[in-house]
Amino acid sequence: MKLTKILLSEKEIPTHFLNINYYLNKYLGELPKPPLHPVTRKPIGQEDLSALFPDELIKQENSLEKKIKIPEEIRELYKLYRPSPLIRARRLEKHLKTPARIYYKYEGVSPAGSHKMNTALVQAYYNKKAGVKLLTTETGAGQWGTALSMACKFFGLDCLVYMVRISFEQKPYRKTIMRLFNGKVISSPSNTTEIGKKFIKEDPNTSGSLGMAITEAIEVAVRDEKSKYALGSVLNHVLLHQTVIGQEVQKQIAKVNDYPDIIIGCCGGGSNFSGIAFPFLIDKIKNKQKGPRFIGVEPVSCATMCKGEYRYDFGDTGKMTPLLKMETLGHDFVPPADHSGGLRYHGIAPQLAFLHQKKMIEARCYSQLEIFEAARIFAHTEGLVIAPESAHAVKAVIDEGVKCKKQNKKKTIVFNLSGHGHLDLKGYEDFLDGKLK
Ligand SMILES: *Cc1c(COP(=O)(O)O)cnc(C)c1O
Repeated sequence: MKLTKILLSEKEIPTHFLNINYYLNKYLGELPKPPLHPVTRKPIGQEDLSALFPDELIKQENSLEKKIKIPEEIRELYKLYRPSPLIRARRLEKHLKTPARIYYKYEGVSPAGSHKMNTALVQAYYNKKAGVKLLTTETGAGQWGTALSMACKFFGLDCLVYMVRISFEQKPYRKTIMRLFNGKVISSPSNTTEIGKKFIKEDPNTSGSLGMAITEAIEVAVRDEKSKYALGSVLNHVLLHQTVIGQEVQKQIAKVNDYPDIIIGCCGGGSNFSGIAFPFLIDKIKNKQKGPRFIGVEPVSCATMCKGEYRYDFGDTGKMTPLLKMETLGHDFVPPADHSGGLRYHGIAPQLAFLHQKKMIEARCYSQLEIFEAARIFAHTEGLVIAPESAHAVKAVIDEGVKCKKQNKKKTIVFNLSGHGHLDLKGYEDFLDGKLK
């Protein structure tokens, strides 16, 4: 029988997170540059981060261990939605008339609707163990705030979410979900922080940005010993947690005796793409084999890897984070207010920037009209309403599928479908009404 949904049993949920830094160090003899203290410009130590994160997460951030055990309590919670399905997109293949085999890893099955749950649970768990009472964070479209609110509820933590103003206004239903899980949601910039007041004074009509929301969340976190901060992407430990995605794909694709030639994911901070790519990239580094190619996809209006500079920059607008070596559009970058495609962060994960610079991964970018058109094709063929973020990956998949048709090549294309788009209907509405620029 021809399989369409390739499923795993709960026993096959990964037992460890895979640490790409171990392999980069061992096989390339080189690591991404470490974060620097903004004043001394020396590599930051454990102490510098302990106001923000619990010790275990700082340890993971700096770890050179090959793999890190996933606590059983987390594996139990993963059973709510993991292993997620790997699905052969047969109707999309047919529509494209491509000889390529296209598979997607569907992370939209998580209760929070995206891959963000994979790290939210781990971060809430270690904060709870460290005696933390409140987690603060930022959210753009609301996916991360939703996942963290839910995880905090599971572990009995309070959750305070600074939501980028434009999304706060345009995506009211995400707010409702966060509130249902007892998350407190504040439109950012706000009057609840000193830096927020400053941002508002500088530009009362600002649409806000992830960079501003991060600064506000950090300001609140460092005020009190019992409160800490959680980030949904970019940092090593977050990318590490997402490697459960790629590890499952490895088992699933083996079940149908296939192997990817191309792996594709959309990139905001870079966590879902890294999650699917790193386990395969580790094998490629280890075995010095040829394939697969790895393609990260960004919006034209926030094309960090495609157009950013590789240099040290702040992770936030208010310059409270350590300096991170990334590809960046500048910490004061504010994405255009009419941009509906998500993926609005000014930087990219230092690990991904490093790999891009080394030409071990590729990057490309598409306009929002192109990605919504791709999302429409995906809905018409596979029946799913996907997150606009994920639609960036779909657009690249379609382009690669068409290329395979022209060249008559039977490549295997695997991509990460990072989340559903059930709460992104404003963007779809504007697209259908021809209002998207
Ligand atoms: C947050 C989010 C992204 C972008 O973040 P990454 O860290 O780059 O993965 C992509 N897709 C969805 C559905 C998201 O919620």
